[in-house]
Amino acid sequence: MKSELISVGTEILLGEILNTDAQFLAGELSELGIDVYHQSVVGDNAGRLAEALKTALSRSDIVIASGGLGPTPDDITKEVIAETMGEKLILHEESLRRMQEYFNRVHREMCKNNIKQAMLPEHCIVLNNNNGTAPGCIIEKDGKTVIMLPGPPAELTRMFSESVRPYLEKRSEDKLFTRTYHIFGKGESAVAAELSELMEKNTNPTVAPYAKTGEVHLRLGAKAKSQSEADKIMESADKRIRQSFGRYIYSTDGKSLPEVVFSKLLKAGKTICTAESCTGGLIAKTITDFPGSSGIFSEGYVTYSNEAKIKNLGVKRETLQSFGAVSEETAGEMAEGAARVSGADIGVSVTGIAGPDGGTPEKPVGLVFIAVCFGGRTEVRRLELNGDRDKIRYLTMLHVFSLINERL
Ligand code: ATP
Ligand code: MG
Repeated sequence: MKSELISVGTEILLGEILNTDAQFLAGELSELGIDVYHQSVVGDNAGRLAEALKTALSRSDIVIASGGLGPTPDDITKEVIAETMGEKLILHEESLRRMQEYFNRVHREMCKNNIKQAMLPEHCIVLNNNNGTAPGCIIEKDGKTVIMLPGPPAELTRMFSESVRPYLEKRSEDKLFTRTYHIFGKGESAVAAELSELMEKNTNPTVAPYAKTGEVHLRLGAKAKSQSEADKIMESADKRIRQSFGRYIYSTDGKSLPEVVFSKLLKAGKTICTAESCTGGLIAKTITDFPGSSGIFSEGYVTYSNEAKIKNLGVKRETLQSFGAVSEETAGEMAEGAARVSGADIGVSVTGIAGPDGGTPEKPVGLVFIAVCFGGRTEVRRLELNGDRDKIRYLTMLHVFSLINERL
């Protein structure tokens, strides 16, 4: 089944608002196993909307229009679509009554022009609006389906979930089942190259890599009637993916890398202490973002200056003098110091040059050392990262969690 979206609203064309309705609908349709082949945006203009609708109906089975169901004269979606499809608009008493109830509930007077919102195509399925006033509707005609939804996201998402999704579920034979492999330590092009023969087939299942900052999400999707059927369809591709990226895959259930590490620490009952320089507390912040973090985290240090590293973590002055603050040796002593002074099971550290200034030919911007001290062994890793200050700090954070993950 082919579908397409028409977003109605001059505000979208002018760049005043982001088309989040289309993003939401596209995601939902793909989950339902319904192909979305086109998306278009038109302003509040009758001629261009009618033209967009005719084009859409000529190539798609289902057209979903959003926006322009309001009470004002520039809200024309229903009027234009009804006319284009040869439908009369008539007063839908129940919708009018529901609207009156809505206004009573919010203690507002219903205006005369709201009546326009209860004017619906003579032959349609009415979609109740439980978050606002304008009802939506579905017209089925000549084998085509047109679904009209209100623009405000809170109204659209609720109406979709309550009424449209169940309606579409009945019509679509297959659903899309997906599994997303979160991969850290391999670039998108490396992943794509490795899976080229899998991606060339790309019908059922489909494989698609998405580049995220510092990582790749590889989505495997199968159209099927049930999860178990989907699992069968995905089986051989799954094997292939795990063969290629086994140790780089840190989750397949949507969990982020810090989340995975956090859960493992909780489960293992291991405590952790952070010693950070260039990340300025980002690692500690990320750990404490999770509720329940007090179970594994009691303290962390931001030691920016040399003196702070000596005073708080017991880093040796000679180490700093001989090798510098950004060095393998300092990173190691910081991690060991963090574990020692806090009594935590794991000490982690970061020291590096986040830029934009402060780089030298020997120690350029993006040079970062991270270390983990755990179970009597300290492991230091040298990173050479690209990007601006924010990105370098963010990538460092991911690398630290990856290193902890490996050690766990
Ligand atoms: P209303 O009854 O509020 O007039 P409507 O169905 O007529 O609703 P619009 O007038 O097109 O919808 O848009 C109302 C508001 O909904 C916009 O100001 C905007 O905030 C939001 N909106 C509309 N379309 C979208 C969209 N595609 N993505 C995100 N937000 C949207
Ligand atoms: Mg409007």
